[in-house]
Amino acid sequence: MRDRAFGAVPLSGPTVVTTVAFLGLGAIGTPMARHLAQKTQGLRVWNRTAAKAAAFAAEFGVTHAASPAAAARGADVVITCFPVSGDVEALLDGPDGLLAGLASGATLVDCTSGDPATSQRIAARLAERGVAFIDAPVSGGVAGAEKGELTIMVGGDAATLARVRPVLEAFGKKIVHCGGLGAGDAVKAVNNALLALHLWSAAEGLAALRKAGVDPAVALDVINTSSGRSNASMNLFPERVLTRAFPRTFRLALLDKDVGIAAQVAREQKVPAPMLQLTADLFRAAHLAMGEEADHVEVVKWVEQLTGVTIASPA
Ligand code: NDP
Repeated sequence: MRDRAFGAVPLSGPTVVTTVAFLGLGAIGTPMARHLAQKTQGLRVWNRTAAKAAAFAAEFGVTHAASPAAAARGADVVITCFPVSGDVEALLDGPDGLLAGLASGATLVDCTSGDPATSQRIAARLAERGVAFIDAPVSGGVAGAEKGELTIMVGGDAATLARVRPVLEAFGKKIVHCGGLGAGDAVKAVNNALLALHLWSAAEGLAALRKAGVDPAVALDVINTSSGRSNASMNLFPERVLTRAFPRTFRLALLDKDVGIAAQVAREQKVPAPMLQLTADLFRAAHLAMGEEADHVEVVKWVEQLTGVTIASPA
């Protein structure tokens, strides 16, 4: 074990003593790292596209690490947030890899919405070096990350979570231990499969209502005080579809990946899950049709194409 106690010792106010490294300054990683820059000391950041990390480091007065190894060297807690677990696994090896920098006693917290099997493999590799691992995907979107109010669902050892909890509290409001390694990934995947299912089915229903002459705003007004409501009906449709704003905050490609993981978990557990499988197939097709940069809510545009109906209030 390293001689330095980590995680449990807050300084005055919200500042945390632990040395943290953050890798992956994407749409959600950037606001998470911003909170860490403000609430921990000695943050180091690394990003594949180095210019993003350099700009972040300059703006927040933190260290821009030249490689994953350099970021991890001397860090008590290393946080990763990449598209898929395979991206984390691919950064473990080599002279610039995480394993070259991580010291025994350190903890890798993977905030990627990952897959349980890969997380378990990564944890086993790290354990050989005395490095702890938890899977800790987040939910709450970019808006939740900006407010520092993400929900964090954790798989792995409860004592490891207890040690790093003060660090996670920099950007997380609700932090839940879900079970053993991979349990956080599995819960996240099922949550996002529900998001996908709600988005798609609300689009189908509202397209049918619009064609039948009902204003979708009126339909949503009813649904949102009735039993069919969801985050899609309460927030995404009113704010992003009816307005035709479709801001890009969470890529459709990533939601496709999440639903695929949920369907895979069901298959591995031998649980019949035809809705999960169908949703995975629909989102794979939409992702292929709409490309890598489309936002997840833009799947509604694809349903609009299939149905020939635009989900908007009459002019
Ligand atoms: P983005 O696509 O915006 O960013 C991905 C980040 O990972 C970038 O920093 C990118 O670097 C880096 N990256 C991509 N591929 C690799 C690779 N092979 N090796 C190293 N770095 C890589 O994704 P998000 O930030 O939106 O999502 C990150 C994770 O968080 C995903 O698992 C997603 O499902 C999850 N998530 C996202 C939410 C959201 O609202 N956006 C909400 C909740 C969870 P570069 O800058 O070089 O491209």
